Amino acid sequence: MKTSTSSQTNSVSKLYCSIFGHQYDVTKLVTKHVKEYTCKCCKKQLTTNSNGNLTELTPTFQEINSILEYIHSKRMSRLKQKMYTTTAA
Ligand SMILES: [Zn+2]
Repeated sequence: MKTSTSSQTNSVSKLYCSIFGHQYDVTKLVTKHVKEYTCKCCKKQLTTNSNGNLTELTPTFQEINSILEYIHSKRMSRLKQKMYTTTAA
């Protein structure tokens, strides 16, 4: 009679995190100020919200971040192009 061990490990990790705190690693740089984090221990994901605070990475935030990332990369490439043309001229 074996119950699923995966859920057990997960609850142990969660317990560990609740005692020692999450071990967040930056998993994605969305913009200069917005990052995505994943806990090495329980795989909980966080992101920076518009107020600059950390919040749980929900599907809504994932969507917002992908839009932000798109806008940011467009802006950066345009900026780079502008810089290149001014230095070249
Ligand atoms: Zn954790």
